[in-house]
Amino acid sequence: MQYIDNYDFRGKRAIVRFDFNVPLNENFEVTDDTRIRAAIPTIQKIFDGGGAIIAMTHLGRPKGVTEKYSLKHIIPTLEKLIGKKVIFAPDCVGDDAGELSKKLKPGDFLLLENLRFHAEEEGKPRLDESATAEEKDAAKKELKIKQKEFVNKLAGLADCYVNDAFGTAHRAHASTALIAANFPNDKMFGYIMNGELKAVDKVLNAPKRPFTAILGGSKVSTKITIIKRLLDKVDNLILGGGMSFTFIKALGGKIGLSISEDVELAKDILGEAESKNVKIYLPVDVITTTQFDEVFKGNGNVETKISDIRNIADDAQGLDAGPKSVEAWKAVLLESKTILWNGPVGVFEVDTFAGGTLHVAELVVDATAKGAYSLVGGGDSVAAINKFNMADKVSYVSTGGGALLEYMEGIDLPGVKAVKE
Ligand code: AMP
Repeated sequence: MQYIDNYDFRGKRAIVRFDFNVPLNENFEVTDDTRIRAAIPTIQKIFDGGGAIIAMTHLGRPKGVTEKYSLKHIIPTLEKLIGKKVIFAPDCVGDDAGELSKKLKPGDFLLLENLRFHAEEEGKPRLDESATAEEKDAAKKELKIKQKEFVNKLAGLADCYVNDAFGTAHRAHASTALIAANFPNDKMFGYIMNGELKAVDKVLNAPKRPFTAILGGSKVSTKITIIKRLLDKVDNLILGGGMSFTFIKALGGKIGLSISEDVELAKDILGEAESKNVKIYLPVDVITTTQFDEVFKGNGNVETKISDIRNIADDAQGLDAGPKSVEAWKAVLLESKTILWNGPVGVFEVDTFAGGTLHVAELVVDATAKGAYSLVGGGDSVAAINKFNMADKVSYVSTGGGALLEYMEGIDLPGVKAVKE
């Protein structure tokens, strides 16, 4: 494995897997360019080193060539951000791509059309529902062979491979994992990948103590592996949001109509936490409403009450952490030296129930200012920290989503493994 910092890009064509899966509006304009902006350091490094870039990415989930998902839509944004003209290949493995790649000069930027226009990228046959098991099997075998050709064609465009798409690193796709084998001595991570891996490793493998994790979101069942892994690592575990009610129920509390799942799961976690000396902090009070249907339609104009979390009215749902809960978490968080935050502690999308999550964000920011290392990651907590404009006040905000969660679970991500091996 090579490192982007010491790799000699002079005269080389680098094929770089980016994550330019950006949102577009109905006029096909990029509405959030964060992912492209994040890639600038890697782009700059290759250009400064005297290399040319062949950029590959997916956009959306097309099931074949689809105008809506064409990467030509991102060209104006890309040109503005990199400050130079983008050359476009209308098929990532077409003849044009081959010809254009041969002509590349140092400092050129060639963008390949959406990888997912080809089924070979994901390696999943695109059959309709009526296909028999045998047809599916045959299609899979055929696609495997075609996938090898696809990988070889992509690799044939370049002299070295850079993977800078952490968001898709948990997928064993042609461009995220398989292609690395074609560059045994010329494969490396870009700066986004390096940053993400370093941040998670720092938190999970060398945390300064006390180490506190805050887990929220709606379901405990989807986070069970992470919770169990964290029990071996953390000193304190704050459990908020929808998932906390399963624990309260397991402890004999009355949770009204609040969402909950299998209490045995919660009992098991509580028992394990005790045996591992991990302190669990659940909310003690919650903001409730009986008009929760309105809230889930996005309407925050409802009557609310603050309730003891163990004694919620039969017709109400708890939708946010209350003031006493936040006060109790404050002491824990401000003493922590490492903080990992995944998942909101309330329905933060609706302002009436965003207060708890906002307070948690403020506490993470305060703890960071006091010297703690804080990592915020996984879908909704990132959306929350962005909503509150605090992303630059914590140590690291991961863009990883599913990839981050799998990495935290201890899974060897195919995109990471392929470059390291
Ligand atoms: P997840 O995808 O599991 O991380 O869950 C994130 C979602 O959990 C967000 O959309 C929140 O609105 C939701 N959520 C947080 N707290 C609650 C709660 N008390 N009741 C229902 N949903 C919640």
